[in-house]
Amino acid sequence: MKTVSLEQELNPWEAQAARFDFAAQKLNLDEGLWKILRYPQREIIVHIPVAMDDGRIEVFTGFRVQHSIARGPAKGGVRYSPDVTLDEVRALASWMTWKCAVVNIPFGGAKGGVIVDPKKLTLSELERLTRRYTAELIEFIGPEKDVPAPDVNTNEQTMAWMMDTYSMHMRQTVTAVVTGKPINIGGSRGRREATGRGVMINCDEALKKFNMNRESTRVIIQGFGNVGSNAAKLMSDAGYKIIGIAEYNGGLYNRNGINIDDLLEFRDRNPSRGIVGFDGAEAADPRELLVTDCDVLIPAATENVITSQNAAGIKAKIICEGANGPTTATADEILADKRVFVIPDILANAGGVTASYFEWVQDRQGYFWKESAVNDQLEFILREAFEDVVQFSETHAVNNRIAAYMLAISRVGHTIRLRGIYA
Ligand code: GLU
Repeated sequence: MKTVSLEQELNPWEAQAARFDFAAQKLNLDEGLWKILRYPQREIIVHIPVAMDDGRIEVFTGFRVQHSIARGPAKGGVRYSPDVTLDEVRALASWMTWKCAVVNIPFGGAKGGVIVDPKKLTLSELERLTRRYTAELIEFIGPEKDVPAPDVNTNEQTMAWMMDTYSMHMRQTVTAVVTGKPINIGGSRGRREATGRGVMINCDEALKKFNMNRESTRVIIQGFGNVGSNAAKLMSDAGYKIIGIAEYNGGLYNRNGINIDDLLEFRDRNPSRGIVGFDGAEAADPRELLVTDCDVLIPAATENVITSQNAAGIKAKIICEGANGPTTATADEILADKRVFVIPDILANAGGVTASYFEWVQDRQGYFWKESAVNDQLEFILREAFEDVVQFSETHAVNNRIAAYMLAISRVGHTIRLRGIYA
């Protein structure tokens, strides 16, 4: 095992690059393609002045990184967080390129981020921040250029403001400039639940592979935001037993299964406390829950949750990565030794961007699908991607993550080779 410092291990860009290099080497990737794909194509840094409610002016720093537009417009979310860095956004942008290629949808990869703690801003301050961030990026985004979407701490409202700001500049309504919008302004049915649904579809496929059934499968979910809560709801409705939920401020454990409908109702009544204090389960240490006995562990929050510090203690047979980058490259090796079946982020959470693709198609056609059509298409695409990844891993004798990277890199590389290099 290559020794790296903890700081290096926890740098998402290093995590992405380590897997990319390894997969590229396994593929015998041409050196020129390696040089093109290893780094993002464009990195934009903006300093965003915002008039605060009390009259002060604050300046926030934001990023948009476009890793690749080889297969189509750049695509990827925007996150608001006090500790966003350019390296993190770079990694997330590359992951979007690989993710879109794994599910074979016609997009490249991008990501945006603003260094801000959205909990400290009022709604009107957040709106002004979002609008000015969008305005600063006006020439770089668009339905054919780069299509943002929600990510950590952004949501349908954020997308509505982005769409409106872009449309005001264009002097016409351009719904397809962002995805993840509210349904009545060009959003897609099923988009909100799509990442969680994709997590479940991937788990279903893994269960089939191991001859397991939903009813006897115990699941622990880390994170109860859009991805974690929707995965919990859909999976418990489908028969899975959700025995643990870990949040940043506390965790819950019930070996007989947590009633997710009751928990969602509890959370909606106390949004500031989240899941803490729910009486349908015991309180549990969120860090302990990661190493508690279960069949499926779903990290569904942010990066660096499974690291060299805790990977050896993981008891789950299957890890399904609802978040981007929850497992470090060092932890990958420990999990591989333990024969944990990891469904990597670029496959496991690809349901979100796949439904975003449907939203973009619907906006451009002006014709909107029923929810069952969205869900059926989503299932079809994800099942095929799961099969492709598992087959690649068997043929090349590599783990699922490297297989997913290899599949993605070969698809993007093939496109670049066909298009050639413009001189
Ligand atoms: N932010 C989500 C992701 O990381 C969705 C991106 C999108 O829909 O464009 O996959």
